[in-house]
Amino acid sequence: MKIGVPKETHKGERRVATTPDVATQLLKLGFTVSVEAGAGAEASYTDAAYIAAGCEIIESAKDLWAKSDIILKVQAPEADEVSLLHSGQILICFLWPAQAPELLNKLSELEVTAIAMDSVPRISRAQKMDARSSMANISGYRAIIEAAEHFGRFFAGQITAAGKVSPAKVLVIGAGVAGLSAIGTAKSMGAIVRSFDTRPEVKEQIESLDAEFLMLDFKNEGGSGEGGYAKVMSDEFIQAEMALFAKQAKDVDIIVTTALIPGKPAPKLITAEMVKSMKQGSVIVDLAAEQGGNCELAVPGEVTVKHGVSIIAYTDLPSRMAAQSSQLYGTNLRHLLHDMTPQKDGEVVVNMEDQVVRGAVICKEGKITWPPPAPTLS
Ligand code: NAD
Repeated sequence: MKIGVPKETHKGERRVATTPDVATQLLKLGFTVSVEAGAGAEASYTDAAYIAAGCEIIESAKDLWAKSDIILKVQAPEADEVSLLHSGQILICFLWPAQAPELLNKLSELEVTAIAMDSVPRISRAQKMDARSSMANISGYRAIIEAAEHFGRFFAGQITAAGKVSPAKVLVIGAGVAGLSAIGTAKSMGAIVRSFDTRPEVKEQIESLDAEFLMLDFKNEGGSGEGGYAKVMSDEFIQAEMALFAKQAKDVDIIVTTALIPGKPAPKLITAEMVKSMKQGSVIVDLAAEQGGNCELAVPGEVTVKHGVSIIAYTDLPSRMAAQSSQLYGTNLRHLLHDMTPQKDGEVVVNMEDQVVRGAVICKEGKITWPPPAPTLS
């Protein structure tokens, strides 16, 4: 089958779905790979590198979409890209079906098979295809790099001839994939790191990174919901948690917030008052900005300075590390295609008996298959 990799058209998107290295692996699976001219340019992958890897470069997006059996993308197709899809085509990218029901209906009308990278089940066997995790890992790392850029001080403590420098104190709220990545990065830069999560089981993971788990003395309410994800907590719990953050805000230099609950708006945990109480020059990075933000004063997509505190609310952190994120995302796609090509003959088999495929396929030859049935307990 023919794979096509278009240039991303979503505003500000710098990633590309396949790198030359990944393309080499796809060719070994029996596919041909065509790449739109300039598709990898913003992620530092040149057309020449794709050609050297054995890909064909196609100048026109229209031609690329027309001749491809499988389209590999990062972002969900924009309206003008949807019009380029044709019946029988397989589309693989982030699609977020719960948030985009109209797109799902359109894909159904067009009789395509749509595979959503965001819907790959988060089970051990599928970790190699878990693009949400690989992108969250990058976001957590980049959050600390962005914080360092805006923080006018060292992270590590130093004793110099010009005086003693205290280490920076970093608070990470939410210790999922992005939070743990931020903790590891801040620790490696020498900061003192503390973290809080509603799921008590993350204590060990936080401590394994040599950071401090902040305990909340709140009995009878565990934070783990369905599938190990966070659940909506009671108002009392949120108030107790926020009292903890109000104390911390006065002490720490940097706060990274990552608190999310699947399918819900981000909980507002950092108030304007807390921002006001922080030291001048402090930094907040709000990784929940796309879902409305954990910080009351965050402006999604922007960096603002309020009460002397820089509030970073970028919603495109993986795209700000486009070379790395394209490589990891491309590898996630390659693993999925590897498992979906049983004969390694370039022919994809959409096996709906496979739990991973069943979860990720949201539309099969025009039939909407999302949401997948709940897994049965055996
Ligand atoms: P997420 O991005 O949905 O949420 C980020 C974190 O915010 C979570 O740790 C959550 O507990 C926390 N949170 C929510 N509300 C909060 C609040 N009010 N205060 C403080 N923290 C709050 O999470 P994620 O990174 O996508 O991962 C969540 C879970 O999924 C974890 O258990 C993770 O280990 C698991 N996971 C499993 C796999 C797998 O393959 N088995 C892969 C990835 C993730």
